[in-house]
Amino acid sequence: MVASEPGDGERLREAGIRPTGQRLGVIRAIRQGGRRHLTPESFHRELADADLKMSLATVYNTLNHFADAGLLRRVGVGDRTWFCTNTVEHHHFFDEVSGRIEDIPGEQPTVVGLPAPPPGMSILGVDVVIRVRRD
Ligand SMILES: [Zn+2]
Repeated sequence: MVASEPGDGERLREAGIRPTGQRLGVIRAIRQGGRRHLTPESFHRELADADLKMSLATVYNTLNHFADAGLLRRVGVGDRTWFCTNTVEHHHFFDEVSGRIEDIPGEQPTVVGLPAPPPGMSILGVDVVIRVRRD
């Protein structure tokens, strides 16, 4: 089991999430694992290794709940979705061969020449995924 920290409950409450024991365990595991890109499957294994037993469906729902609340960022490439623990605005490299996704370090790319959004809509953000492969 990973150690508790008083800030975890506060962080959940600030995001509008009621801090149940299970959610505290999840936010703690997210924090202690550092910056990374989770899938429900990979995180389910991580939690099991930390003796936090919950179903894959619960892990999936909790990650989506946390992402909706801004505690994680959803990153989609094709039909795959990751949950990025780095909530600061950033973009990603995606290795098409290994299927790995990672943060673009340092200065972030900028997108110029964005079209006007459809009538009645506003642009919330732009996610850049740069596809790469080993030479
Ligand atoms: Zn990321």
